[in-house]
Amino acid sequence: MISIVMPVYNEGPHIEGSVATVHALLLQHGLDAQFVLVDDGSRDDSWAALTRLSQSLPGIKAIRLSRNFGKEAALCAGLEHADGQACLVMDSDLQHPPELIPRMVALWREGWDVVEGVKAHRGQEGGVYKLGARVFYRLFHKLSGFDLSGASDFKLMDRKAVEAWRSMKERDTFFRGMSAWVGFKRHRLPFVVASRVQGTTKWSPVKLGRLFISAISAFSSLPLQIVTVMGGLFFIGALGMAVQTLYTKLSGHADDGFTTVILLQLIIGSALMFSLGIIGTYLARIYDEVKGRPRYLVSETSVSPAVTPPISTQE
Ligand code: UDP
Ligand code: MG
Repeated sequence: MISIVMPVYNEGPHIEGSVATVHALLLQHGLDAQFVLVDDGSRDDSWAALTRLSQSLPGIKAIRLSRNFGKEAALCAGLEHADGQACLVMDSDLQHPPELIPRMVALWREGWDVVEGVKAHRGQEGGVYKLGARVFYRLFHKLSGFDLSGASDFKLMDRKAVEAWRSMKERDTFFRGMSAWVGFKRHRLPFVVASRVQGTTKWSPVKLGRLFISAISAFSSLPLQIVTVMGGLFFIGALGMAVQTLYTKLSGHADDGFTTVILLQLIIGSALMFSLGIIGTYLARIYDEVKGRPRYLVSETSVSPAVTPPISTQE
C-alpha cells in the first residue's frame, strides 16, 4: 500500500473534486492507496470537506492542525501519520500531475527508493518568482553542495527513506533539502507543472523569504565564515591605512582626512551590522531548536471507517 500525503490550506472549493480525481485514477490502475490529508489550519471550509471525504471514500485519514503551521510542518504531520510502504507527497491543487503516479509507483517497484518529480518547466509562474527560485537554488547548491534545481515536493519515498527522514530531529524543516540529504537510490522524473485547479498560490513573498533563510541556515554554516573572511579583508585594508596615516603624520602634513573618516565609519558600521545579522540568524535558529517545541499540533482527526461498502461510482 502507498500513502498519498497532501497538505491542504484553504483549498475548500476544489479539494473534494481533486482527491476524488486522484482516487479514481488510482482505482483505475488497481493501486492500493491511503490518503493522508493534512488541513494546515485552513480558514475556509476545507476541514468540513475533508471530513465529508473521510465518510464517503475509503482509506482517508484527515488530520487537522490546530493553526496554520506552514506547508513544511503540514508535510511532517502527513509523513508521520502515513502507514504505507511508500509515501507519495503531492500538492492538493493538482499542480503535480496525478497521471504520473502509476509511473512513479512502477519505478519504486523496480527498486528505486526515491522517485522525485523534477520541474521540466515551471508553468505559469511570475518572472520574479522564477528569478528568485534560480538565485535560491544556485546559492543553495554553492553553500550546501546539494543541487536542488528543478526540485519539487512531488516525491515518492520508500518506507526506509521516510524512516531516515523521520530520524532527523530538527524542528524547522526543509523537506526538499532533507529528502536529498538522506540519499538512497534516486530516480528523477521530469514533469510539467500544471496550473492550479482553483484559487491562487498560498505562498506570500514573506513566507518564501522565511523559507529561503531557514533552508540556507539549515544546510550551510558558510555564511558565518563569510564574517571571518570579511574581517580578514578589513584587517589587511586597515594595516595599509595605518601605515599611510602614520607616514603623513610623521612627515608633518596630516590634515584634512575628514571624508576618509566618514567613509570608513559608514563602511565598517554596515559591515559590522551585516555580520551581526548573519550571526543572529544562526543564533535564532539555535534558540528555536533548543526550545524543542513540537513541529505542529493536531486538533482533530477523521478517519474512514475500517469497513466501507465498495464504491459504486467514480464521479
Ligand atoms: N500549503 C499548506 N500550508 C501553507 C501554504 C500552502 O499546506 O501555509 C499547501 C497548499 O494547500 C498546497 C501546497 O501547500 O497543497 C502548495 O501550495 P501552493 O499551491 O499555494 O504553492 P505553489 O504551488 O504556488 O508553490
Ligand atoms: Mg500550487
